[in-house]
Amino acid sequence: MFIDTHTHIYLQDFEEDRLQIIDECLNNKINKLLLPNIDSSTIKDVVKLSKDYIGVCFPMVGLHPCSVKNDYENQLAMLKPYLEKCNPVAIGEIGMDLYWDSSTLEIQKEAFIQQIKWAEEYNLPIVIHARESYNEIFQILDQVNSANLKGVFHCFSSDLKDAERILEYGGFKLGIGGVVTFKNSGLDKVIKEISIENIVLETDAPYLTPTPHRGKRNKSSYLTLIADKLSDIYEISIDEIGKITSNNAAKIFDI
Ligand SMILES: [Zn+2]
Repeated sequence: MFIDTHTHIYLQDFEEDRLQIIDECLNNKINKLLLPNIDSSTIKDVVKLSKDYIGVCFPMVGLHPCSVKNDYENQLAMLKPYLEKCNPVAIGEIGMDLYWDSSTLEIQKEAFIQQIKWAEEYNLPIVIHARESYNEIFQILDQVNSANLKGVFHCFSSDLKDAERILEYGGFKLGIGGVVTFKNSGLDKVIKEISIENIVLETDAPYLTPTPHRGKRNKSSYLTLIADKLSDIYEISIDEIGKITSNNAAKIFDI
């Protein structure tokens, strides 16, 4: 079996064919879909889908770094009650994105730290979005008591040095998605040096569509394309890739 540890299938992009895609997933042994939240405008849809598909769709609660604006304290206050209401499997997605907007650096830090505290309070893993911000995130993880933290660096696409630094924390896995299928991404060479015990699979649908569907909308059923690429990289069967990465995900998210 396979687990898509990061899919935004609750978004409007899937209004027309969401149920069909979930069927496609189940028919391809993609049995579990983890739903990272974005902000207060999406949380109800995350929760609803998780209730409609108990045991298949699992909610996360968090404020995405690109949604951290001046009203972020309000956003956090609106989201926090869901930690009790919907039994999330993780705090996510959270982190820092200095690619889209670096003017919010300071408040992104604040929001990230506050949500790490939620993770500690509720004993939950964190799903980290890091874009042009690895050093800033490492600084924060070094400040907080990261020994007790666990989670996933979602859409990992940096170099071996960053990968090794992440794994040194002890509780983190690398979320690998469509980027690994891109020609010239170089990510295949990086993860070949990393044990598969440190990897979980994800699509980040509707974004980051794997080859050969690049340029089109991504969907969770394409997870098998990513697993197939990993099967080439690690030279083990796709079933084995599914088994090991699902086991890794099950341990992190307690599912
Ligand atoms: Zn995402």
